[in-house]
Amino acid sequence: MRSLDTDILILGAGGAGLFAALHAHRADPSLAITVAVKGLLGKSGCTRMVQGGYNVALDPRDSIERHFMDTIVGGQWLCDQELAWTLVTGAVERVRELENELGCFFDRNPDGTIHQKAFAGQSFDRTVHKGDLTGIEIMNRLAEQVWARGIARLEEHRAVELVGARDGSGVAGALLIDMRSGEYVFARAKAVLLATGGGPTMYRYHTPSGDKSCDGLAMALRAGLALRDLEMVQFHPTGLLAGTHTRMTGTVLEEGLRGAGGHLLNGAGERFMPAYDRLAERATRDVVSRAMYREIRAGRTGPNGGLFLSMAHLGPERVRREFRGMVERCADCGFDLAAGRVEVVPTAHYLMGGVEFSPDCTTELPGLYVAGEDSGGVHGANRLGGNGVVNSTVFGAIAGESMAAWVRREGAWCEPDRDALEAAIARCEPRRGAPAGALEPLRERLYETMWQKVGIVRDAKGLEEALEELAALDAELAAAGVPEGGRAFDLAWQEWLNLRNLVEVSQAIAQAALARRNSCGAHFREDFPQPSPPEAAAYTSLRRVGGALRVETKPVAFTRVRPGESLLGDRR
Ligand SMILES: Cc1cc2nc3c(=O)[nH]c(=O)nc-3n(C[C@H](O)[C@H](O)[C@H](O)COP(=O)(O)OP(=O)(O)OC[C@H]3O[C@@H](n4cnc5c(N)ncnc54)[C@H](O)[C@@H]3O)c2cc1C
Repeated sequence: MRSLDTDILILGAGGAGLFAALHAHRADPSLAITVAVKGLLGKSGCTRMVQGGYNVALDPRDSIERHFMDTIVGGQWLCDQELAWTLVTGAVERVRELENELGCFFDRNPDGTIHQKAFAGQSFDRTVHKGDLTGIEIMNRLAEQVWARGIARLEEHRAVELVGARDGSGVAGALLIDMRSGEYVFARAKAVLLATGGGPTMYRYHTPSGDKSCDGLAMALRAGLALRDLEMVQFHPTGLLAGTHTRMTGTVLEEGLRGAGGHLLNGAGERFMPAYDRLAERATRDVVSRAMYREIRAGRTGPNGGLFLSMAHLGPERVRREFRGMVERCADCGFDLAAGRVEVVPTAHYLMGGVEFSPDCTTELPGLYVAGEDSGGVHGANRLGGNGVVNSTVFGAIAGESMAAWVRREGAWCEPDRDALEAAIARCEPRRGAPAGALEPLRERLYETMWQKVGIVRDAKGLEEALEELAALDAELAAAGVPEGGRAFDLAWQEWLNLRNLVEVSQAIAQAALARRNSCGAHFREDFPQPSPPEAAAYTSLRRVGGALRVETKPVAFTRVRPGESLLGDRR
């Protein structure tokens, strides 16, 4: 095993990881900062895939209070209000930094102000964007800045375990696998940031990048940390349904299409959303996904079992002009988004749940920080479109500053718990000699179980069955192993590790979903369809105790506004 020392170790190189690296470096350029990433820096993760854009209150007629209220109401009052407030206030600063310091070009109005478009669940159009491929602009500029600063990079290095200090005082570093050689690397650090981006890729239809397999959440669970709101899995209503032969199936057609006035039609060509919600297609993602699920379950579907997104009534020229990326993506799969109809299905998009943390990105484990989609509590029961990349950039920056301050103040390299390190290596070593392809049926079973039983509509019976099936899958996976072969770029080994983490986090999602005996935001229980009253909002807090997952329910602290009140003076 190779080992290295660094002051700050950042796991993941999406918006959260790279902002953390830049801000830590800015706070103290003498710090040794290392970014370890499963893919390539700047090319991996979901921030690069951001299409629609970035929510921020910039217009004088808008306000951070309005952005805050939309976030809280959209999140069904389940958000941690201090985190949500940090999000909306930090967004203003970060978007200026993105533009003026990092050099992002966002779309502009004829008068030179930044153009902001409509997204669902917003009471004011506040989504800043670069066409409909905003993430590429953000990630390219961020990566250039990181490259320019001599920040160390461990690319194609996968974090597999957080390693505690031998004296139990906090985190000592992380165990990594250098995927290029298959060698283990222990990176010792005074502060570690978990920013591996969550990602619900355990569902049959999903949007996140293929490198995401909930590794950070699984590591946090194994480290004994508490994770909140794990049952809150966001399904994006408009995942492309392009057939089983292509990875494009499940990828998302952005929210701005519905925001701009796109219609959803069932198999009979009827527009159905007005019958479900007064905001029709502009209702929040949970509401639209559930309505779609009901149409699908009633059999009112298109030829491939999906529904249709129709934009043609807005004028094909306008659609081509405003949604060039989406039009091209659909054309690649043989669909005409501008003038025709595209078959879509709800697709697993985002985990609102994650590691419990404070607004300064600290966790309960000294020296361990979290930011971005690995963290929980910012979005409550439902993330507003456009608030995801804000989350990663705002909290990434804060994490960088907090870690630099911690290292200066009291951070020290600790002697790692060698037994834990050895146990982690043993856990990562599969049986060799399995036949090729042995993992595929296991992945299929995971997809099917999560889609059918822990998906958009749930009940106790399905969740209990899912937990049984997931326990069986866990045991079968552990025994399954991988074929003989070299360790360098051993894709079967990496897939085995992915699946183990996905099954572990799936169990946690199902357990949290079973514990929440009401319906709220993204979580809908057919056996408990009543929405939980906002005044009684309580979040699930789950952790591993011994071998078992334990869920507690804790009341939300209404630190800034109470249900029925509003920071805007109106009633919500
Ligand atoms: C298709 C799509 C469109 C989206 N559109 C929008 C939008 O318009 N607006 C919006 O606000 N949000 C959008 N989102 C959500 C947004 O992308 C995420 O909220 C946000 O980018 C997450 O940032 P992150 O830094 O936490 O994670 P990511 O950007 O996903 O980065 C995670 C990083 O961790 C690395 N990693 C993973 N596992 C490991 C490991 N074990 N070890 C080391 N590194 C690891 C990955 O390689 C990657 O570099 C979209 C998401 C998708 C999938």
